[in-house]
Amino acid sequence: MKLFLEKITSSGGRVGRLVWCTESAQSVLETPLCLPYTRAGAIPHIVQSVYQDLSPRPTAAMLTLPSLYELPGSAVLKEYDYGIHNFLNMKDQFLYLSIQDPHCPPRSGFNEEKSTSVWTNGGRMKVSVAGYMEFVRASRPNVFESLCDSVSSQTNKLKRVRKSVDRTLRFLDQTLAMRQNCQVLEECGLLGAVVGGDVYEERVRSATETVKRPVDGFVIEGFDLEHSHECYQSILQSATSVLPQSSPRFIHGVYSPGDILTAVESGVDVFDSACVLTATENGCAFTFHNSSSDCVENRRENRGATENIAAEPPSHQIDLNDEKYAMDFSPLLRGCECYCCVHHTRAYIHHLLITREILASTLLMMHNFTHLMKFFASLRDVLRSPLESDYLHFKSLCAFPEHFLHA
Ligand SMILES: [Zn+2]
Repeated sequence: MKLFLEKITSSGGRVGRLVWCTESAQSVLETPLCLPYTRAGAIPHIVQSVYQDLSPRPTAAMLTLPSLYELPGSAVLKEYDYGIHNFLNMKDQFLYLSIQDPHCPPRSGFNEEKSTSVWTNGGRMKVSVAGYMEFVRASRPNVFESLCDSVSSQTNKLKRVRKSVDRTLRFLDQTLAMRQNCQVLEECGLLGAVVGGDVYEERVRSATETVKRPVDGFVIEGFDLEHSHECYQSILQSATSVLPQSSPRFIHGVYSPGDILTAVESGVDVFDSACVLTATENGCAFTFHNSSSDCVENRRENRGATENIAAEPPSHQIDLNDEKYAMDFSPLLRGCECYCCVHHTRAYIHHLLITREILASTLLMMHNFTHLMKFFASLRDVLRSPLESDYLHFKSLCAFPEHFLHA
């Protein structure tokens, strides 16, 4: 895996190409990139045939360790012996393995000197470096996150934050030692985790020390939904400012368009789509601005259509549980070309939700996923534009101040 940067804008945004090798060819992913979030190798509420037909067709995904570590686990994958791509029928896809599940709220106080805890269907499991490397060796993802002792941005006890940085570096050194002696592990890309909570000096120390190790990229760990915007921006920048420009930077669980743009301006390249699941399970449909071209006209049209039914200000999302949509026969978002918006109305989705039909989740996932992917495509367009004003205009239309999604 290698990142080729095309451009760094004056706002700090990076646009580029992440190149990786399949068994037969080289593949390219454009950055800023949103990796489809999966549990057990599946996008929740979407069957694989629908997943393959989504537009644009996903060519990459984020795997989450808690949904795979207990079952199938190392033993099944080792016995199968054809790797996680074949096991999940995700051949030729770029698969990234993260330690925690960004859709689940972080739990503190469970990591130990020699292990990190993850929550599987069977409950808490302690993951040691040796156990994790056995799983990576059996599954062979394209890239994996190093084991880390991540603490929430709300952890403000300096002693605990320092311990988190020290432990994470020790886990990384143990990982590198094991990788050095194993060709299978060497062929998987390794991301070093940058931790340190909200403590500026510890974030810088974690990033500086991780850079000294031979890793293929970085994950900025430990952000959740409760941080203030100012804190989020300054802590992110403290971490990314010491990372080499040529290496990809990943982040987990960034939820609002405003926070995504802040992370992009701080030099982050790769995100995940966990926010799609959160919105869907809340019965919500994304409506935030996501177009790089005819956005102003579309926005006016959408707003007008909404005002005809129920006057409401432009928003990030609409809650289809609300009774006001019972007689709203417009699509979730006028102009959206997803299957749900082409074939169904807000009133029908509202009906599916109140009758608790599982089709509600499938249709909302299709819309929200398509919407977020278009947001990232538009973001790449405006970052590539020679006119800085294109990005600023895009930002002014989609960066609402509030945090809008809570798990
Ligand atoms: Zn749609």
